[in-house]
Amino acid sequence: MKKIGVVGGGQLGQMLALAGIPLGLEFIFLEPSADACAARLGRQIAAEYDDIEGLERLAVETDLVTFEFENFPVQAARHLATLTDLAPGVRALDVAQDRLNEKALFRELDIPVADFAAIDSQDDLDKAVTRLGLPAVLKTRRLGYDGKGQKVLRTRADAEGAFEELGAVPLILESFVPFNRELSLIAVRGRDGECRFYPVAENIHINGILHLSRPRLHDFMQEQAQTHARRVLESLDYVGALGFEFFQVDDYLLANEIAPRVHNTGHWTIEGAVTSQFENHLRAVLGLPLGATAALAHAAMVNFIGEMPAIEPVLHLPGARWHDYHKDPRPGRKVGHVTLLSDSPRRLEQQIAQVEALMR
Ligand code: AMP
Repeated sequence: MKKIGVVGGGQLGQMLALAGIPLGLEFIFLEPSADACAARLGRQIAAEYDDIEGLERLAVETDLVTFEFENFPVQAARHLATLTDLAPGVRALDVAQDRLNEKALFRELDIPVADFAAIDSQDDLDKAVTRLGLPAVLKTRRLGYDGKGQKVLRTRADAEGAFEELGAVPLILESFVPFNRELSLIAVRGRDGECRFYPVAENIHINGILHLSRPRLHDFMQEQAQTHARRVLESLDYVGALGFEFFQVDDYLLANEIAPRVHNTGHWTIEGAVTSQFENHLRAVLGLPLGATAALAHAAMVNFIGEMPAIEPVLHLPGARWHDYHKDPRPGRKVGHVTLLSDSPRRLEQQIAQVEALMR
């Protein structure tokens, strides 16, 4: 039986283990928090992500290591990669952890991005606002997620003191993209270089946090998204699943960001695709054949943010599948999700509206 080490023990770890147990896998999670939701599905090494002893134990006790947490410190990842097989690799982490490196890679690969500027002072910001114009979005280069570490600048007054406001850390200013839709693509690449792609998902964020994700079958943007993702996968010699977020403006895509891991906009694949993103990630890192990525039905995923709604009315919906991450309620925290499946797009829309009403 193969043992998989996972850095991180959150809901992505929980769902990886739920996909991997039927493949005959065992899991060990490196995760400091005492109430990690993945821990009940494997063993936990309770140590910080950069704890040398913890990393060494993880390497010794498993056959290979992956991560479900993209802010795994690069130094620690580099050390781990000298001890064991780490997939995806350190370079993918390094690029994805810094929005400036990410944008530089996209540009190098001829993948369009919104205009941007690196900001290291208020003076840089004032100059960049003049050059890029407003509105624009100011973001921390590192450690931002779920809309944290961001500020939309609409007027010159919004820019005043904004460098300090975001912590006087390295920032990036991006032109505000008047997008028609936000799309994401889950891509997976095997050890032999084979790439597979799921149908693109159309995503709605509320306050910077993903609310709703709907795969769009045969979308006219599918091919463009795949072309961009394939370039990134190949240039990073990537192994595993990757989430790629885009803004669609008319008939072209601008790259927003990549996540070198399984991704929230791919949760619908658990019930909605032939092979889930979690199983395909594990197949990829193990060097097993990748599974089919086709959708089985019209699907949607609604995140539960802050707290879980009552379970019964949701399960009354015919195509509903419930996912509870066993997390304490907290404002803005992703605590679970529901996947809705239907053979009719109209009935699916009705079910989404019903779930949204139950969450209010
Ligand atoms: P991010 O953390 O970069 O994914 O940003 C979170 C959300 O903020 C995105 O999903 C968009 O809804 C919005 N956003 C981020 N950057 C921009 C931008 N340059 N233009 C318009 N909206 C943006």
